[in-house]
Amino acid sequence: LVRIDGVHKYFGEHHVLRGIDMTVRQGEVSVLIGPSGSGKSTLLRCINMLETISAGRIHVREELIGYRETRGRLHDLTIKEIAAQRREIGMVFQRFNLFPHRTALQNIIEAPTQVKRQSKVKARSRAMELLDRVGLGNHANHYPAQLSGGQQQRVAIARALAMEPELMLFDEPTSALDPELVGEVLSVMKDLAKSGMTMIVVTHEIGFAREVGDTLTFMDGGVVVESGNPRDIIANPQQARTQEFLSKVL
Ligand code: ATP
Ligand code: MG
Repeated sequence: LVRIDGVHKYFGEHHVLRGIDMTVRQGEVSVLIGPSGSGKSTLLRCINMLETISAGRIHVREELIGYRETRGRLHDLTIKEIAAQRREIGMVFQRFNLFPHRTALQNIIEAPTQVKRQSKVKARSRAMELLDRVGLGNHANHYPAQLSGGQQQRVAIARALAMEPELMLFDEPTSALDPELVGEVLSVMKDLAKSGMTMIVVTHEIGFAREVGDTLTFMDGGVVVESGNPRDIIANPQQARTQEFLSKVL
């Protein structure tokens, strides 16, 4: 579903992604780990077109992301085309970025009604289903400030799902949470994985990687150092850098 070929990203002189190759198959959960500054968030942001890439190609379902290619030359997409591509990709960030003045339900129906022009009635009933799915059916009318961090993050997941994305990106979705709230968010993500959603998850939750991940990729310094079956990599990392990192997070 996702194919990343030779992706480079510079911020000015700073070469942050240095030739990333990665594929994620339909229905697969791909977990990304690595030290701070290794480029994990940048890679997710490139997939989601929050950043433009400096070289390489990213395809999602055979569609080139961010550009149109005609006769081997790349042309920028229009704002409208970018919006259409972005709609297929849901993203959940470390900090729950819900609209503070809107209830859980209103947060969820915002994009479907505004962007997809869904009717309010339809968007609401779908939002209620999603709230039930993340265990918050009776919190529809709560404002973010009335919800715990874990509940807010579950609303954020429901909100992303409301757009019916074919791919979900998670950038350290539990790292801003109190430890006792981490489990409820991971459990929602696990259910989502079971339902067949294709997911790329940046996390330091090695237990989640082992249990739910189909592949584990270790990044350092803007390159993929090692990638493969999570259990194998965790039990038996081949590269010294992976070994060193894992010894710190395990
Ligand atoms: P962390 O685990 O801390 O979240 P990360 O692996 O997600 O780290 P990135 O956020 O992708 O790392 O950052 C990679 C590098 O790119 C860092 O050195 C960072 O300072 C730099 N960087 C990220 N975003 C920008 C930006 N918008 N402008 C300039 N430099 C940036
Ligand atoms: Mg990051």
